[in-house]
Amino acid sequence: MEAYTEIRQAVAKLCAGFPGSYWRALDREMAYPTEFVNALTESGYLSVLIPEEYGGSGLPLSAAAAILEEVQRAGCNGGACHAQMYTMGTLLRHGSAAQKAEYLPAIAEGRLRLQAFGVTEPTSGTDTGSLKTTARLEGDRYVVNGQKIWTSRAEHSDLMLLLARTTPKADGMKRTDGLSVLLVDMREARGNGLTIRPIRTMMNHATTEIFFDNLRVPAQNLIGEEGRGFRYILSGMNAERILIAAECIGDAKWFIDRARAYAGERSVFGRPIGANQGVQFPIAKAYANMRAAELMVREALTLYEGGANPGAEANMAKMLAADASFEAANACIQTHGGFGFAEEYDVERKFRETRLYQVAPISTNLILAYLSEHVLGLPRSY
Ligand SMILES: Cc1cc2nc3c(=O)[nH]c(=O)nc-3n(C[C@H](O)[C@H](O)[C@H](O)COP(=O)(O)OP(=O)(O)OC[C@H]3O[C@@H](n4cnc5c(N)ncnc54)[C@H](O)[C@@H]3O)c2cc1C
Repeated sequence: MEAYTEIRQAVAKLCAGFPGSYWRALDREMAYPTEFVNALTESGYLSVLIPEEYGGSGLPLSAAAAILEEVQRAGCNGGACHAQMYTMGTLLRHGSAAQKAEYLPAIAEGRLRLQAFGVTEPTSGTDTGSLKTTARLEGDRYVVNGQKIWTSRAEHSDLMLLLARTTPKADGMKRTDGLSVLLVDMREARGNGLTIRPIRTMMNHATTEIFFDNLRVPAQNLIGEEGRGFRYILSGMNAERILIAAECIGDAKWFIDRARAYAGERSVFGRPIGANQGVQFPIAKAYANMRAAELMVREALTLYEGGANPGAEANMAKMLAADASFEAANACIQTHGGFGFAEEYDVERKFRETRLYQVAPISTNLILAYLSEHVLGLPRSY
């Protein structure tokens, strides 16, 4: 039985106002779904995790997971705004009382957008400890220099959580020490040391590369303690992985619904294609794998909400759900035959969109490496 029935129904109703034709038009132009994100924001869905004292709903992670799952299940794309749900957690857990009071109520009200998250760099990739962007303290400001890549939604965000090196690497120091998190006000920064360049991708994802050239960030925008930034970012990653996994479950359900419907109505050789086992079985298998992945998402949510730090379950949920959504996507395109490639069916668009989750926000290989090392006790491979 699915939890949060009322929230799910309300999200589905909101999403019904943004049908395939809306997303197709944006996809052609690679345009941002501003109206959709505004509607989600105004209905309070993006601030469900913000505590009530700061103007949010103070709901647990499973409510956010239900919302994002429904968004994807309705054929919409939460990738346009999902980051606000989990990046806010870094500010909530590690920000000062003054920072929380300044930013969280404005984010909850929808006056401020915290959609951008600058971690990945072109030369270091998954090896975050090798990132090269520096933030040097000069008086009451950090001076930031360097470059980020794949900073999604940067053009549609007021704030960015930025991970930069504040202490140069030295002998005996852990590679991930000396990194700090800064909250960058993009409205002030653009044109004053911050340049954003969009990257065109195979799906419409509003992602960018960002260049810092002596960007000045007030020292008071440091989150938590200097040098501990990597731990702060890591602390939010389980939530991020679980929420992305919930989105993949929603995608898988959309693909399975579409495949089932089409298999029932398309008639070839005088009978529905769905009467053939060769058509049924891939859909049935995708369904079974989706259900198994869904159980792992629930397990990760239960552990997370019980106060545990479920690294293994969050990673497994993300990997299994991403695999399930892509398997369902493949079965759906195959079921549709040639029409699977036609824009108007939305299948090819969703296929492109869900493929991302094999790579981002963490690639399957790195999840397998985590499980090998931390769960199975095998030697670290990287
Ligand atoms: C559309 C999109 C949006 C994104 N949004 C954001 C964002 O908002 N903010 C942000 O900071 N980042 C973002 N990312 C970055 C994303 O998190 C990275 O692309 C991802 O973590 C992989 O890093 P990489 O691209 O540098 O790949 P690399 O690290 O270069 O790896 C390339 C391939 O090699 C494999 N590999 C690397 N090392 C090993 C190893 N030791 N063992 C086995 N396999 C290995 C990887 O699994 C991968 O398949 C986004 C990426 C995309 C494509």
